[in-house]
Amino acid sequence: MKKNCILLRYGELALKGKNKKEFENQLVNNIRQKVKRFPGTVVTKSPGRIYIDLNEEYFEPVIQACSEIFGLVGICPAIRVEKDWEKIKEAALALLSERKERVQTFKINAKRADKQFPIPSQEMNHRLGGFLLAKLPHLKVDVHDPDLTLFVEVRKEHAYVYGEDLPGLGGLPVGVSGRVLLMLSGGIDSPVAGFLALKRGVELQAIHFHSYPYTSERAKQKVIDLAKILTRYGGHIRLYVVPFTEIQTEINKHCYESYSITIMRRFMFRIAEQIAKKHKALALVTGESLGQVASQTLESMQTINAATTMPVLRPLVGMDKQEIMTISKRIDTYETSILPYEDCCTVFLPKAPKTKPHLDVAERQERLLDVERLIQEAVENTEIIDLRPEDEEEFSYF
Ligand code: ATP
Ligand code: MG
Repeated sequence: MKKNCILLRYGELALKGKNKKEFENQLVNNIRQKVKRFPGTVVTKSPGRIYIDLNEEYFEPVIQACSEIFGLVGICPAIRVEKDWEKIKEAALALLSERKERVQTFKINAKRADKQFPIPSQEMNHRLGGFLLAKLPHLKVDVHDPDLTLFVEVRKEHAYVYGEDLPGLGGLPVGVSGRVLLMLSGGIDSPVAGFLALKRGVELQAIHFHSYPYTSERAKQKVIDLAKILTRYGGHIRLYVVPFTEIQTEINKHCYESYSITIMRRFMFRIAEQIAKKHKALALVTGESLGQVASQTLESMQTINAATTMPVLRPLVGMDKQEIMTISKRIDTYETSILPYEDCCTVFLPKAPKTKPHLDVAERQERLLDVERLIQEAVENTEIIDLRPEDEEEFSYF
């Protein structure tokens, strides 16, 4: 008898009523979307559980795919059998025998979700424990700290037996919390911020400011690659690439050097707000933390933030660089982020950026620029690139 399905557990039990239904429907959709490249798989839902029938598909890649889905807390490779006591015993024996060397102690955790089934949960625990001890005499029962917990779930249609509960990503299913616009640079932080925003169930779009020819095509490709990696967790992601050269040149020509970063970032927020509104995103997301660089002091944030009235989410605000890097490695963006291509923020980097820029000074400086026209032109010339996960087609238009 071999494993033939994956049982998926999901969390956020606090959700109730209409929210819960929406959460479950979105989660099932996201799972179907994710595993559709494995044509044998069939995804079904029963109260409190989601199952993937494997139908001869390999386990590992499907489990890997599930480990990239927000909303799942447990991924359990299982044997599904008829609701027949003999079959359940056989499945339990198969699972335990398979793990012979590493397992010395075990316990059974049986659950009778279908009350029509004649054997109550406690009795299943005892009878199955006794059966396994007789068959595999080297084993012992340890109810407190066993090497393996064998789960048995008797549900309406089938019974499931499993001994592994691999951790899922947690969070909320992507799509239940509305749409946000991620300000995506080529650095380490913003892709992590995007990942953490996705974790709370948002649908992600991304915006990147590009200063060609000061920043190269390769720098742009790097950002496309980062967005593409995020599609593993977020599904389809639309990336807006905004031409930023003229704005930076104008700032450089007319404004105080020490204010150039502040003003540049105020432009970024204004343009991002326009694009967000046009495409129905409800908030902006950045990879800013506190205190890393000149533009990330509270005074600076206040002056920059005053350029927009939209909520700005900063999921990294409480994190150290080390923690951010750890996540970046885990989600596979790190290696791409550290490629040494220039970013528009570094091209025109002032020698001594103002760490506490004043709003009135920034506003006065901006009066020397044709702000409206610059923004309008940048928005109009924005390139849209649609990125899709895996081997799905990728296309772009202008
Ligand atoms: P990151 O590692 O994400 O580049 P950082 O530590 O380098 O962040 P900054 O350069 O101050 O910090 O940028 C702060 C945030 O501003 C970034 O996390 C990103 O959200 C946004 N940002 C910076 N440059 C760009 C850009 N060229 N396009 C879009 N967003 C940008
Ligand atoms: Mg950066």
